[in-house]
Amino acid sequence: MSVDARQALLCWYAVDKRRLPWRAENNEPPDPYRVWLSEIMLQQTTVAAVKPYFERFTGRWPNVAALAAAPDDEVMREWAGLGYYARARNLLACARAVVADHGGRFPDDEAALMRLPGIGPYTAAAIAAIAFGRRAVVIDGNVERVIARLHAIATRLPAARVEIRARADALTPQEDAGDFAQAMMDLGATICTPRSPACHRCPVSAWCAAFREGVPERYPLKAPKATRPRREGEAYWLEHDGQVLLVRRPPKGLLGGMRALPTEPPTEARWREAGAVEHVFTHFALTMTLRCARLEAPAAPPVGEWWPVERIGEAGLPTLFAKLAARAIAWREAGPEG
Ligand code: SF4
Repeated sequence: MSVDARQALLCWYAVDKRRLPWRAENNEPPDPYRVWLSEIMLQQTTVAAVKPYFERFTGRWPNVAALAAAPDDEVMREWAGLGYYARARNLLACARAVVADHGGRFPDDEAALMRLPGIGPYTAAAIAAIAFGRRAVVIDGNVERVIARLHAIATRLPAARVEIRARADALTPQEDAGDFAQAMMDLGATICTPRSPACHRCPVSAWCAAFREGVPERYPLKAPKATRPRREGEAYWLEHDGQVLLVRRPPKGLLGGMRALPTEPPTEARWREAGAVEHVFTHFALTMTLRCARLEAPAAPPVGEWWPVERIGEAGLPTLFAKLAARAIAWREAGPEG
């Protein structure tokens, strides 16, 4: 990509950029808190899924000091459904570190940003460039694809990442690094899409090697797919007097710290099988068998909290357990009682 191509990209971005709730409008300076929050939420999550969460979070906690002062429980509950819950715990830890160690202002360089909880190399580069205009090389999945196509990179992923980084570094301008990064991301998200790139509308097609070759969608070349392992588990829906037993998951590990259904029998009861729920995590697929029972008079209360079934939607259950709860409610309404 030449200087001309970069200019064409930036001109296109100035006119056609996506309007996103975390982006500054009307030449206002970007708000580092909003840039940071959006980047954490967008890790492994789509823009469409993030938007309502971002609006709710910034409505409730408009700045980093407000978020740092929020109770853990409230933040985890607002996060429920967004997945990858370690992000929510790191989010709070990071907000508190910014307040305690940096006087409530995000540091503006990559090295200092990376010392904060939950901020890895990509997020540090994105915040440094977008929030502070620092020159930083920002490579997300969209940018990776655009660069692989522009240069028709013949190496397969993940080995190709070395060359992609070198190319991206060479392309990143000294000035306007934030706009450049966002322009590349937008190009990948709206025009240079994975399956059917709209090359006829692309501002940099004149400089694109994959376009010249004629089959741009074959880039980036991928390694053959590994199959996702499958795991199995069980969940228990124990009801008593219109309430269901919920537990808090251990702080470390899968869905750590979240409210959930027990995954071991919480007490002796007449358990009945109520089907199974499938859920796909990044590294494995999980099938959870659901067992339901009703307690008339619990002798010793099982460990956990009784939660009103009709308010189960407010418990902040992560998606897997929300699906299991919906299944249990449907099962019990269909007739069989444990
Ligand atoms: Fe992507 Fe096509 Fe533009 Fe090349 S010309 S960058 S393949 S959209």
